[in-house]
Amino acid sequence: MVTLSGALILAFSAGCYQVPVTGRSAISLVSDQEVLKQSAKAFADLKRTHRASPRRDWNERVQRVGDRLSKVVFWDVPDADWEFIVFDAPQQINAFAMPGGKVGVFSGLFQILENDDQLASVLAHEIAHVAAKHANERLSQNLALQGGGLLVGGVLAGSGAGALTSNAVLDAYGLSSGVTAVGFDRKKEKEADHIGIMYMARAGYNPEESVKVIEKLEQISAGKATPPAWLSTHPSNPERILQLMDLMPKALEVYRQSGRRQTPVLVK
Ligand SMILES: [Zn+2]
Repeated sequence: MVTLSGALILAFSAGCYQVPVTGRSAISLVSDQEVLKQSAKAFADLKRTHRASPRRDWNERVQRVGDRLSKVVFWDVPDADWEFIVFDAPQQINAFAMPGGKVGVFSGLFQILENDDQLASVLAHEIAHVAAKHANERLSQNLALQGGGLLVGGVLAGSGAGALTSNAVLDAYGLSSGVTAVGFDRKKEKEADHIGIMYMARAGYNPEESVKVIEKLEQISAGKATPPAWLSTHPSNPERILQLMDLMPKALEVYRQSGRRQTPVLVK
């Protein structure tokens, strides 16, 4: 039996990593390999239990935009085996990405999207959660809370109570009962916005469109009772827009450098 303080020391020595783009230092108690394995299983489960959207054009758009984004995040998500799927869930305006590059878009999202840049901003935000290993952090917390995790070389592993399973991954995403993916906490959501706007710009999508997506979400939630930002675990939409506007000059610079700004014109 490892004592708690011993466990913490092990964790600090073995589980530290640096988040891309923001440079934040974070800790993961779960093994990356195990998270990848269980996420792939969880995603396969979802594909079995949920219908893919019959809309071929939507699936193609998601593949096309996802493909361009995955190329510019290669060094931040080197272990990904990318998969992009549109699930048939017209009521859900949402998307998610699991470790290993398993990306699901709920078809309701297409209600609000006007162009590929806006789709890119949603996908880039979700991919940012993966690059920052936010799921690993949440799984570490969940397993530590259960207290059943066995520490091996500083990472939680083993079998029995507290072991990492595909259900634990689905739980971490709020996907174990239905298709209502939950967000992460306020700090992680803002971090994903920060990383995401840089990723979309890097891939040559106009970062200004990210603000329009949040404005759309704000319009939809208008009239519905939401708790004030300081009470909520989620950042408010105005708070998200303010952060994006702060980052915009830098994002526009990255966008210009991407060389994709002008659509090529064929001159005869
Ligand atoms: Zn998010």
